[in-house]
Amino acid sequence: MAWVSTNKDILSLLIALLAILVSLSTALINLRNLRTSSFIAIQKEMLHSEMQRGRLLVYRALATGDTPPRDSEEEYLMVRALAVFDQLGMLSRQGIVPRRWVLRFWHARLQLLKHGFGMEPDPSRPYILQGRPDLQYLIDRAERYQCADTCCAGGRRESRLRAPQRMRRGDQIGPADVEWSPAEGA
Ligand SMILES: [Zn+2]
Repeated sequence: MAWVSTNKDILSLLIALLAILVSLSTALINLRNLRTSSFIAIQKEMLHSEMQRGRLLVYRALATGDTPPRDSEEEYLMVRALAVFDQLGMLSRQGIVPRRWVLRFWHARLQLLKHGFGMEPDPSRPYILQGRPDLQYLIDRAERYQCADTCCAGGRRESRLRAPQRMRRGDQIGPADVEWSPAEGA
């Protein structure tokens, strides 16, 4: 007991430090849980069938040059899919979802978007091409993303980053076109 009373200041300091460490680790665990649940929530939205259809329309438009008619259901789906992709970029940029996870899951699709959003510049439809800085932020990082998995093996990454040889529906499909396939995923 004599030791305790002699060193009580040091003991108080140690207990205070321990309390700070426990609080800090609890805060870090809570932050990680919050980021995980935010990632799962946005992934659920991204993988909704409407979003998948919208993205497929974008990839197809990039590959073929065929764009949906103005005010069509397809145009609506494309714009909505791009808006949600932009939202994913914002959440990632703000650190609300881990950028590392976003790039790991989406890098291949983001690399396809390097070639645009499926539309030629059209001043009458600025809502499709303009005002997507957060999506552009993700695309820029996806271009530099290093991946050792099969999605990027055998020249697939380079093929995605290369500008697509545009072809119209009904054209003969050659091996080069198959390499750059919008069916890579949604
Ligand atoms: Zn990859």
